[in-house]
Amino acid sequence: MTLGEKQRLFVRLTGLLIEFAYQHGYELTTGDAYRDPRVFGKTGEKKGYGSRNSNHKLRLAHDWNLFKDGEYMTKTEDHQPLGEYWESLHDLCEWGGTGTRYDGNHYSMRHHNKW
Ligand SMILES: [Zn+2]
Repeated sequence: MTLGEKQRLFVRLTGLLIEFAYQHGYELTTGDAYRDPRVFGKTGEKKGYGSRNSNHKLRLAHDWNLFKDGEYMTKTEDHQPLGEYWESLHDLCEWGGTGTRYDGNHYSMRHHNKW
């Protein structure tokens, strides 16, 4: 799959994630999506905050701010239902709360084994 095909699939699957969230009583606001390499450095280059190899630079990651009953849910485990759903959508989908990453609001697609 090319990067462009993957970027377009990422947006389509993101739509499903948003719908899943609202169907389960959550609300979302956007956090970081695309991180422009002119500001954050090219892939592999560290500039500003964030990881040098972040998939945000490839348009393959989105951070979501999660709310339930008007309350901002900040813990990684608060995102668990959405994270599990996200990873069920496609083999390349990865959630930031898996393992020991504790980056629960981060939803991405793998590209060259980066997330
Ligand atoms: Zn992120």
